[in-house]
Amino acid sequence: MYEIFADLHVHIGRSENNKPIKITAARSLNFANIAKECVNRKGINVVGIIDCASPYVIEDIEKFLKNGDAYEIEDGGIIYKNKVCIILGSEIETAEINEKGKTGSAHNICFFPKLSDIKGFSKEMSKHIGNITLSSQRADISAYELIDIVEKYNGILIPAHVFTPHKSFYGNCTDRLEKIFKEKYSKILAVELGLSSDTFLADQISELESKTFLTNSDAHSLPKIAREYNKILVEDISFKEILKALKNEDGRRVVCNYGLDPKLGKYHRTFCETCEKTIEGEAPVVKCNSCESKNITMGVFDRIEIIKDKKETKSPENRPPYIYQIPLTFIPGVGGKTIDKLLGVFETEMNILHKISENDIESVVGEKVANNIIMAREGNISIEAGGGGVYGKIKI
Ligand SMILES: [Zn+2]
Ligand SMILES: [Zn+2]
Repeated sequence: MYEIFADLHVHIGRSENNKPIKITAARSLNFANIAKECVNRKGINVVGIIDCASPYVIEDIEKFLKNGDAYEIEDGGIIYKNKVCIILGSEIETAEINEKGKTGSAHNICFFPKLSDIKGFSKEMSKHIGNITLSSQRADISAYELIDIVEKYNGILIPAHVFTPHKSFYGNCTDRLEKIFKEKYSKILAVELGLSSDTFLADQISELESKTFLTNSDAHSLPKIAREYNKILVEDISFKEILKALKNEDGRRVVCNYGLDPKLGKYHRTFCETCEKTIEGEAPVVKCNSCESKNITMGVFDRIEIIKDKKETKSPENRPPYIYQIPLTFIPGVGGKTIDKLLGVFETEMNILHKISENDIESVVGEKVANNIIMAREGNISIEAGGGGVYGKIKI
């Protein structure tokens, strides 16, 4: 067995013939470019592309497979250049009704072993979704119903960025996933933590103790791929092996989560929409401390404080460590040109963030920038928390 790096939540901006898939994502983010970026710059071995139920993307995948550099494997997934395994996925927004009769919406990332599976899924979901060609569209069913359709096509369902305020289960549907999935809750193998939370925060909720935690990038552009990722122990790169790892089966498992310090996430603390500022008071902040307004976007940190049911945070024994990493784009003084220079010498961002010595970095970008990168790596920084859709900021 060996360790691999996986990022299971990457979007597509446009199809190769320039049809919009996710409007807010970069144009260069297409199926083939994601595969190349993972191999050439990121050092990612398994990537989940979650806009593959769009018929335009399905066309691109068929073309990609004909070109010869890529092929589908029996255990599920598409192998490209013998270096990266692409897992075909789809992000679906479900409609949930809570105990008070209020409707919320939540994102689910669903993964399938074969192209034929996701084609079947796409066709069936087009009955429940207004425009199946676009990313993360709202379906007219609940996740409790969706999971049956996913399983019919041999797939798995993972609740996405579970705490974010607008589109997630804990954020705006429920205080317990078990209320959503009921007797099917055991079919949920993993949850995605999202950029604004981490293992330490999530392990305050007891129903998550039996679930694997995933840290994925939710990338809307090529440079953001792998800003969060998972280190996984497997025998091979395939859908089947990843599934085993999520189940903790036959020695396969997630051995480490790498993610942002949650304070850097866009929804870490409550944000006052009237004053347009993040409120860093004692959690949970449910109204603005300057204007008293309740017109707020609830922070993930604050939401967890409300719904947690454990007195002290204690992770289950088999919980892997969560390592904070600060992507280069967050570090003061590191712009696009500096990143290209660094990648030119050290190949992947992962090398720069975790391995290369300060002296070597300094020889390429000078003392000041090298010093900032090392301070960020060692956590010697302070962070102004993000909220309301604005990322946190680093101060060195
Ligand atoms: Zn989402
Ligand atoms: Zn206010």
